[in-house]
Amino acid sequence: MAFYLLHAPDSYSDALAEAIHAVKKELKLCARCFNLADAELCAICRNPKRDPHVICVVEDTKDLIAIEQTGAFQGLYHVLHGQLDPLQGVGPEKLKIEELVLRLRDEPVKEVILATNPDANGTATALYLQRRLKPFDVKITRLAQGIPVGGDIEYVDTQTLGASLKQRTEF
Ligand SMILES: [Zn+2]
Repeated sequence: MAFYLLHAPDSYSDALAEAIHAVKKELKLCARCFNLADAELCAICRNPKRDPHVICVVEDTKDLIAIEQTGAFQGLYHVLHGQLDPLQGVGPEKLKIEELVLRLRDEPVKEVILATNPDANGTATALYLQRRLKPFDVKITRLAQGIPVGGDIEYVDTQTLGASLKQRTEF
């Protein structure tokens, strides 16, 4: 980037600096789901076509974008902004967990999809959320783990293969 700017006209770098400044100033978190937003609520929360009965819980905004790109999910999101990590001192109070609990109290939610990462901390976060959300009358689901599309069983690691056997679906 430095080399590119070295040869670009001053007007270009001025415009770029202004644009970055504007983005930083205008970017905020959605008051409801904590996705990136340019207003009080993000574009997804403002969209009346989204299904308010299903909330997909993700660790960060990049996960939300990845799920959005599938086009397979029409509900709302809740971004935790991290995963539980006791070794790094990240407890439930550092994530947007209380805010999720309040949403279950105030919104017509019927299902919560726990889409945290399938690593140790992501799984611990999902288990914590499962316990925390139990008092509410909602269905709690977790993303399936399995063989990648176009994959080859022979090369799938044993943990993933084991998980995909356990989570097999009717054909
Ligand atoms: Zn939102």
